Amino acid sequence: MHVAIYARHSTDKQETSTQDQIRRCREYCSVKGYQVADVFFDEGISGSHIANRPGIGALLVAALNGRFEGVVAEDLSRISRDQADTANFFKKMMFLGLPVETVTDGVINELHIGLKSTMNALYLKDLSDKTHRGVIAAVLRGGVPGGQLYGYDLVHALDEFGEPIRGKRKINEEQAEIIREIFEYYAEGRKLKHICDDLNRRGIDSPKGGKWAPSSLVGSFVRQTGMLRQTLYNGVVTFNKMQYRKHPENGKRLSIMRPEKEWITVPIPELTIIDDETFTKVQKALDERSSKHLQRKMIPTVMTEEEKRETSIRRSKEWRRKQAVTKKRANAVFGGKLYCGEHNQKITATYAKHYSCPVKGCANRNLHYDEIIKLVLNAIAELDEAKIIEHFESEEIQQVRAHHAREIERLNQHLEDLRASINKVIDALGPDARSTEIRAFFDDKAEQIQRTKLDIAHHKRDLADCATPKKLQNIVQQHQRLVTRLSLWSRDPEAVAPIRQTIKRLTITTSGDRTGNVTCCADFDVQGITSLGELR
Ligand SMILES: [Zn+2]
Repeated sequence: MHVAIYARHSTDKQETSTQDQIRRCREYCSVKGYQVADVFFDEGISGSHIANRPGIGALLVAALNGRFEGVVAEDLSRISRDQADTANFFKKMMFLGLPVETVTDGVINELHIGLKSTMNALYLKDLSDKTHRGVIAAVLRGGVPGGQLYGYDLVHALDEFGEPIRGKRKINEEQAEIIREIFEYYAEGRKLKHICDDLNRRGIDSPKGGKWAPSSLVGSFVRQTGMLRQTLYNGVVTFNKMQYRKHPENGKRLSIMRPEKEWITVPIPELTIIDDETFTKVQKALDERSSKHLQRKMIPTVMTEEEKRETSIRRSKEWRRKQAVTKKRANAVFGGKLYCGEHNQKITATYAKHYSCPVKGCANRNLHYDEIIKLVLNAIAELDEAKIIEHFESEEIQQVRAHHAREIERLNQHLEDLRASINKVIDALGPDARSTEIRAFFDDKAEQIQRTKLDIAHHKRDLADCATPKKLQNIVQQHQRLVTRLSLWSRDPEAVAPIRQTIKRLTITTSGDRTGNVTCCADFDVQGITSLGELR
């Protein structure tokens, strides 16, 4: 085996000189039967900060060029006095497939370094391509390809030949703290929206300035983008993901994703922000959440149209019911739904059991709860089958239905166009095109198709929601039962919640004449009413 010897001597008098170290290493090699291919050393340089040592930098470059098959040093402390720094060097050598041996400890393994097995994700890819070799060399010395990345600052540094290292970065501690927080919260199972809301509330700028959005955190599943998937946060650079080519017909630049096995990952442990455990946990959660998402999208394909409609109706009703239950308990069944017939303003609670229109001098002032509840219950008790049918056959609902039907038609046409455009491109690429590229292009279009399908599903659900419900009689009976409960106890929470869903608006009018007659007119919520059929 051909090995390289590394030696380092600081100005510290107690250390052995580089010449002594090299001699001891040579003896070790001859005992082991190794041939010394090269010797690298740093003289008068302290044991920390590998980045500033030209000798070890040159060793990295030579290692990359395959000049030797292993590294020998007198002791681990010669590589660095800093534990993390030593671990960095070790990870890079493992990545290159080069064992590290020391005279004191022999072959070094993860245990000597204090690493739990973290190397399994990394292995050296075929480096026959020269263009990659250059990038990998730069990466191993701390240069990251690509533009600005949240969590890091670009620094200007020179390599051992006095050349600037492109893309050299250091951790921006303030931003790193935010990243750690995001990963931890996500790993705990918090919703992306909550994480973003929290950051926005605290006035923390997003990577692009402005507000945080869930999409910037998860990115695209197909393209494996987004902050939570950024491997550099775990100390690994991933590149060679995308390939660019011109569209054969319109000359537009297409970005095509390479298959995962062509991606190149290089360890750059000094830029680690997220520890392995948290990072792995987050990746698992991402996969789980997105596969659930995919599954949800897949299910309707094996159901009949009828079943699909039923499921979507049930789902939206469940959602609405949950909304009604989890929202903070409404005191009055009419809370927030009361309007002044004259001023079209909300009538709100003013003091103990009294409600008023905000307009001064309005007749709808100082209305007592007992008075209002009587009127409200009378008004909502008027709901019958005829009223429901009238609602669903109203001009307004007809128009909504027509709108959804038109949208579904338009989106279906769009879907067809998308499919046609894919076929066109496949024809244009011809039989010589590599299948992986076509697949990547497919993935891209597949997202658009999925989105369109989802839009269609939404419209279909809305359309189903505004169809006249089937069990009108059940609905009316259920409604009457609930109204009866309210007449016995007007704050019965089990009746208040479902009844509130059926009310859109209650308009109170006080006649201007001497009688001062107060009347109430109920507008029912078309969608809310249908959910009553599901209750028992
Ligand atoms: Zn008023």
